[in-house]
Amino acid sequence: MLDTAFFRRWLALAAAAVDREADRLTELDSAIGDADHGSNLRRGFASVSAALDAEPPATPGAVLVLAGRQLISSVGGASGPLYGTLLRRTGKELGDATEVAPGRLAEALRAGVAAVAQLGGAAAGDKTMLDALEPAVAALGDTTESFAAARDAAEAGAQATVPLQARKGRASYLGERSIGHRDPGATSSALLIAALAQAAE
Ligand code: ADP
Ligand code: MG
Ligand code: MG
Repeated sequence: MLDTAFFRRWLALAAAAVDREADRLTELDSAIGDADHGSNLRRGFASVSAALDAEPPATPGAVLVLAGRQLISSVGGASGPLYGTLLRRTGKELGDATEVAPGRLAEALRAGVAAVAQLGGAAAGDKTMLDALEPAVAALGDTTESFAAARDAAEAGAQATVPLQARKGRASYLGERSIGHRDPGATSSALLIAALAQAAE
């Protein structure tokens, strides 16, 4: 079972990964966007960590809802509301349970990813974060071992955005010139799922 401490660990590892990889994320966004993805997420996850420390939530669901709210309010770019929606919706799906089975988290994350697709009007293949998130949640099962499979699926999905032409977000303004570059949001999504797998190790 996954307790509140597990979810705190997941988000702390995600914040550390975003901080470590911020320059790379911004570099990717400079090729097909406006060169702010790393700084957007660094600011967002720093705000998540501060809020969780200031008012430690009592349940896994409350951890994710608070984190999602912080991302929505602290990140100006498209990725803030999208990641915020992912975490908030996933948290709401978990309700007020104090411990969560891996399979239940898998279901909740699938609902969270569906909410991201609905908010952004995007689908897998559009060269967005969904290209990493959708294969990741499809790989999640009833055991924490499946988290490693989700990590690998997210990484493969992010890498597979390179030959795609962007159909959503800022990169879509480039048309065919978006081809040949890895999507920054899919790359940060792979970091988020890798942090989930690491938290379960
Ligand atoms: P902005 O583009 O506003 O500067 P960011 O640079 O922080 O925001 O985030 C860009 C990332 O957001 C993209 O690489 C893409 O993965 C993701 N994204 C943008 N628009 C959408 C959308 N409609 N649906 C899903 N993801 C999106
Ligand atoms: Mg940007
Ligand atoms: Mg921007």
